[in-house]
Amino acid sequence: MLQAVTKNGDFVTLPLLPHEEIIQLKNSKSQFFCPVCQSQLLIKVGKKVIAHFAHCYQQECPNQERGEGVYHERGKLDLFYWLLKQGYPVKLEHYLHTIKQRADLFIHLNNKKIAIEYQCAKIPIDQILKRTNGYQAVGITPIWILGGNRMNRIGQQVLSLLPAEQNFLQQFLNDRWPKLFYYCPDVKQLARYDLICLSGRKRTIGQLRFMPLEETSFKHLFQPNHVEVFTDQWLFEKRRFRLYLPKRTYSHESQFREWLYLNQLTPSLLSSWVGLPVVGQWLMKVSLWIWQARLCYDFFNKQSHFTLDQLQVFIQPYRKKINSQYPLLQRKEDPVINYLNYFILGGKIIRSRDGYFVNGRISQYQTIEQAFRNDQQIQNRLKNRMHYTHEKD
Ligand SMILES: [Zn+2]
Repeated sequence: MLQAVTKNGDFVTLPLLPHEEIIQLKNSKSQFFCPVCQSQLLIKVGKKVIAHFAHCYQQECPNQERGEGVYHERGKLDLFYWLLKQGYPVKLEHYLHTIKQRADLFIHLNNKKIAIEYQCAKIPIDQILKRTNGYQAVGITPIWILGGNRMNRIGQQVLSLLPAEQNFLQQFLNDRWPKLFYYCPDVKQLARYDLICLSGRKRTIGQLRFMPLEETSFKHLFQPNHVEVFTDQWLFEKRRFRLYLPKRTYSHESQFREWLYLNQLTPSLLSSWVGLPVVGQWLMKVSLWIWQARLCYDFFNKQSHFTLDQLQVFIQPYRKKINSQYPLLQRKEDPVINYLNYFILGGKIIRSRDGYFVNGRISQYQTIEQAFRNDQQIQNRLKNRMHYTHEKD
């Protein structure tokens, strides 16, 4: 930790002092205590570490380091100075007695309280939820910034996110797209990832932007970005789905393959209407390829006319039961309605007074070339109509 209290009750923040002064303190035999458990602390200083305090003895103390090391401490300090320079009343390692949690950075401005957690080490899902819920319960807005070391980039706009990490996704007021933030103290850069859609269990497609810390303001982090949903990356995802058979087959996946087989459907030749990126995919139990294929061939093709209620009944088994995960996401976007809207936009489904009509069967292609061509065409059609409707607004 970076902060301690003296016998007189003064706070000392070690890395804010000149090096000589830290050495003097270390040699002076002055005593320092943990602001949380009051036990005695040691000064640790050296060339490779950021000067910090450590408990003399192993303690069960919430102020204990979370095993994150120098990278974390450096990043935390960078962010602290960054906020300070912008005039925010920011506190470092602020301990909240009521919830027994220590925020890396804490801002109390007007009526708003913000806790910034800079997370560089892996933590279990229940810890993420516990800490997030703890803040929310007392009216504090938590903001997670992940260490740049944790970014697992597998394509230019593709991140692999473990299911636990998906709980760091956050949506603020008026946000359509869930966001993730990263900071890397090695290159002094922030990154913001606007998630468009999960295309697999861990595979996510989004829009990734890097921003030098010095040129970015705290407010800037949250400004709405224009996010293009239909991109070449998404076309690539479809191509990948058509050509690539998942190595490890999950039970949903093998059931799906069996269903395709029984219905004489070939994954590589499925209609281009299967596999459209939707907001809120995280609310679904199975991958979008699965529920969208089922909806197309088992529902739309069998019901030439349907109501919203019938659609909801059909899709219910593919939805997750509401659980406590994703505490920072809003539940206002329904992925199934988003999906239906693409059909309406593209003229494949027509709204009538008492329900919906499917305009022609959803078929299969003869060749893979035809499939690729249609993927491109449908994507272009939806993209153009989306732009047109936006302009009309
Ligand atoms: Zn302590």
